[in-house]
Amino acid sequence: MVLVKPRGFCAGVVRAIDIVELALETYGPPIYVRKEIVHNAHIVRDLAERGAIFVDEVEDVPRGARLIYSAHGVSPAVRRGAEARALQVIDATCPLVTKVHLEAIKFANEHRTIFLIGHRNHDEVAGTLGEAPDRTIVVSTPEEAETVEAPGTKVAYLMQTTLSIDEADAIVSVLKRRFPHIQGPAAQDICYATQNRQQAVKDIAPQVDLLLVVGSGNSSNSRRLVEAGQREGTPSHLVDSEIDVRPEWFAKVRRVGVSAGASAPESLVQRVVQHLRTLGFDDIQESQDIEENVFFPLPTELRAARPPSQIAAHP
Ligand code: SF4
Repeated sequence: MVLVKPRGFCAGVVRAIDIVELALETYGPPIYVRKEIVHNAHIVRDLAERGAIFVDEVEDVPRGARLIYSAHGVSPAVRRGAEARALQVIDATCPLVTKVHLEAIKFANEHRTIFLIGHRNHDEVAGTLGEAPDRTIVVSTPEEAETVEAPGTKVAYLMQTTLSIDEADAIVSVLKRRFPHIQGPAAQDICYATQNRQQAVKDIAPQVDLLLVVGSGNSSNSRRLVEAGQREGTPSHLVDSEIDVRPEWFAKVRRVGVSAGASAPESLVQRVVQHLRTLGFDDIQESQDIEENVFFPLPTELRAARPPSQIAAHP
């Protein structure tokens, strides 16, 4: 069995979970959280048991209560809604998502039409789109990029942070061909964690007969890891935990790889590993690591409460 490195928690997820835990410790429940703090069912369930209340919209939060925005970010309209209800907001938006919002504001101020490359129903895309809804068009596939239109020639593109690098590149190529003067972000929008996890899976997939990715079904970056494995020709499956592992996947499998999306805790990876041991995969190696030393500070209001967790993707 090969444990793919890096895998699991990224700096934005560690920070977001820290924020909810610290808010619960510092202020006591109830602490409201808009949407899933990160896209992992186990983490959401665990925090809910400890007093976090997950809601879909600010209108579901009692006036004046404490509300945390999820790692995926929110639109200005959501911020206005929270202000109108006098909510005490703590922002757990990943700084790398905030970077994309700032780029959207910049391009909007330049009166550009913005092609936002991403998945329409994803929380992050909804938040970024909300920065300039009148001039942003979501583009999800190369086919859509072939037909999308903009009024005038001032155009720009941005990306969801958790896309498939290969798919995003294919969409950008089409846009660049059709709109030669298109502007892009100064630095890549697909975040370091997404890139590193996809690269590590690409490297390992050809060396294994089966790839399991630990992550929840609504986790974009986890699903992209499964696709990265499949693109290398390796049967690849997303599993929320060891319960999802199916015996029929293992016919003729001699070597299995295990990775995890950026929102999947290492404890779940270890449960899957233990299960695989019972199936006879008890020789465990870790793939060569791509070094990650990224750390995001906590919001000021929580900084004094506790030293933040160190980034430990593989505790
Ligand atoms: Fe931030 Fe990337 Fe992690 Fe999303 S996957 S929370 S953008 S570091």
